[in-house]
Amino acid sequence: MNVQHPIVTMVTCSDARFHPTVFFKDPVDKVFVIRNIGNQLANARGSIDYGVYHLHTPILLILGHTHCGAVKAGLHDYSKETEGIKNELDHLHLPLSKVSKSGPFEKRWLDGVEKNVNYQVEEALKFYKPFIKKRRICCCRCCLRFYKCLWQGLWENGYS
Ligand SMILES: [Zn+2]
Repeated sequence: MNVQHPIVTMVTCSDARFHPTVFFKDPVDKVFVIRNIGNQLANARGSIDYGVYHLHTPILLILGHTHCGAVKAGLHDYSKETEGIKNELDHLHLPLSKVSKSGPFEKRWLDGVEKNVNYQVEEALKFYKPFIKKRRICCCRCCLRFYKCLWQGLWENGYS
């Protein structure tokens, strides 16, 4: 196998409870996986660009999940974390700034997960607009609820 042939560039969280086998029985040579805490584009642009521009995967999938520790940390004071962790969590500021400051934490946490996935997709639609416009790639989002998965494909019709 001298070259790879993935069909999905997947940006997902590093969370140990999730692996691509959730979607693919055999993910070998099918999924180009980029993982970081909080499934963020900002922390992995080079890797994502590689999947989109060099591997030409027809799908860019942003996959978030419930009970995300990165989102939880981003909703609290994380100033005592290491510089590396703080640098990555700082990128969650924008999506999490739209989460209510009051109410039950579980609800706010879930809202943060969804707002983060939506934000990452919006960013992807901006970054890869030319490819989406040419229909070379479809940007999708998924919020994985452990034991339950909700899909939502987003063809950006406004770009066609
Ligand atoms: Zn997570």
